[in-house]
Amino acid sequence: MGTELYQMTIHELRDLLQQKTVSAREITESVFQRIGAVEERVHAYISLTQDLAMEQARAADKRIAGGNASALTGIPLGIKDILCTAGINTTCGSKILERFVPPYDATVIEKIKTAGAVFTGKTGMDEFAMGSSNETSCFGAVCNPWDLDHVPGGSSGGSAAAVAADECIAALGTDTGGSIRQPASYCGVVGLKPTYGRVSRYGLIAYASSLDQVGPITKDVEDAAILLNAISGHDAKDSTSINRPVPDYCKALTRDISGLRLGVPKEYFVEGLDPEVEKAVRDAIAELEKQGARIVDISLPHTDYAVAVYYLIAPAEAGSNLARYDGVKYGYRTDGAADLKDMYVRSRSEGFGTEVKRRIMIGTYALSAGYYDAYYKKASQVRTLIRRDFTDAFKECDLIVTPVAPAPAFKLGEKINDPLSMYLLDIFTIPVNLAGLPGISLPCGYSSSGLPIGLQIVGNVFAEETMLRCAHAYEQHTRWHVQKPDLS
Ligand code: GLN
Repeated sequence: MGTELYQMTIHELRDLLQQKTVSAREITESVFQRIGAVEERVHAYISLTQDLAMEQARAADKRIAGGNASALTGIPLGIKDILCTAGINTTCGSKILERFVPPYDATVIEKIKTAGAVFTGKTGMDEFAMGSSNETSCFGAVCNPWDLDHVPGGSSGGSAAAVAADECIAALGTDTGGSIRQPASYCGVVGLKPTYGRVSRYGLIAYASSLDQVGPITKDVEDAAILLNAISGHDAKDSTSINRPVPDYCKALTRDISGLRLGVPKEYFVEGLDPEVEKAVRDAIAELEKQGARIVDISLPHTDYAVAVYYLIAPAEAGSNLARYDGVKYGYRTDGAADLKDMYVRSRSEGFGTEVKRRIMIGTYALSAGYYDAYYKKASQVRTLIRRDFTDAFKECDLIVTPVAPAPAFKLGEKINDPLSMYLLDIFTIPVNLAGLPGISLPCGYSSSGLPIGLQIVGNVFAEETMLRCAHAYEQHTRWHVQKPDLS
C-alpha cells in the first residue's frame, strides 16, 4: 500500500517480518518518527508509550527469530484510552480518571499482548465515550487528518485519526452507538463493531453495558479480519460474552459475493441525507450489484425511534455505571471538602464534564420512581421492536447496506453547543447497537471538499464472516482505501 513502513497495513508488515526483510524495531521506529512529524497537528493521542513500544518490539523480534510469531507480532497498535492497560494511565478522556493507572489489563489487551503486538499509546476519545466529535475530552479535541479544522468523529476519534494519519498501523476502538464506525467513516478508514458478546468487555470502562463492544479500526478490511481474530472469543470474566467458536475471519475473504442478497432500507435514504453521501453509497451498492450481489428493497419501520430510544437507554446505563466515581475508591477527589456529602458532590462536579453530567441527569431522571415506566421501560420495549425490524429484514436479505452518517465530518466547534443536532447524526449507527448486530464502515468516496464518506454493511448476529466477505470484495474493486490525507 504505502512505501514507508508506517504507511503499511498489518498484513503487508506481517509478510515483511516473516520474510525477515524488516524488523519490529524498524517498524516501531518508523511509526514513532511519523508521530513526531504529525502528532502536534492531529493530536490523536492522550499518551504515548514509546519506551514500552521499543521494549515490545525487541521482544517481538526475538519471537520472530524463534519462529513462533502471530499476525500481530511486532505490529504497532493504538489503544483507545477506555481500555484498561496495567501500569499505563487510562483516563477515558476524563478529569475524574486523569491519574488512574489500572492494576490489570482488559481481556482484549491481554490478547493482543499475547499475540506480540506493540503499543504506541492511548488514543483520544470523547469523555467516557459520550460524543460524536471528540470534543468532550478533557484533554482537548482530536483533529481530522483530512482537514484539521474538522472533527475526526467520535468517540473513538483518536484511534481513527491515528490510523488515517499513519500514527499507528491499526487501533482498537469501542462502539456503543457508532463510536467505531462513525469516526472510521469521517477519517476514511475501516471500522468494525462486532456482534454484542463476540468480544469481551472485561476491562473496558463501562458506558452503556448492554451496547458497548470493542472492535478494530484499520487501514483495510483484511486487517480488520486479522485484528478481530485476535480479540474475539468467550471470556469467563464477562458474563455477556458468548461461548461460540471463533472462525478464522481471514478465510472469509473469498472475493466472491455472487448471489448475496443485500437489503437497502428505505428509511436510511431520506431527506437530510447529504446528496454527495447518497451518491457515494448508491454507487457502492451498484458496484456490489455488478459483482453479482442481488439488491433487495427492505424496510426497517421503527428507525425513526432509534435515536430517542438510545438517548434514554444509554444515559440510564451510564448513570448507573458512573455512580462508582465517588472520589472514595479511585479517581479524582476534591480538596478540603466540609463533609462526606460535600466530598461526593464536589468530586463529581469538578471531575465530570458538561456532556457527561447531562447524560447522568437524563439517565437518573429516566430511571427514577414515577418516570421509569414512561421512559426507560418504554424505551426498552421500543428497542425490542427495532430488533424485530432487523430479524424480519434478515428473512429477505443476508446483509444490509446503508450510509454510516448523514454527512461527512463537520467543523470543530460547529455543533458542540447543540447536543440534539449531534445526537441526530447517530441515526444510522445506533439501531445496529440496539439490535446487538455487527456492522462495518469502509471508505466509499470523498466529498467535493475532500472529506471521506463511509459505507456501512450490517450483518445478522454472528454474521461477521459474510459482512467481511462483502466489504473485502467491494474494497478489491475500489481504490478509496489506499488514499491518504496530505499532512506534509
Ligand atoms: N455518539 C454516541 C453517543 O454519544 C455514540 C457513542 C459511542 O458509541 N460510544 O453516545
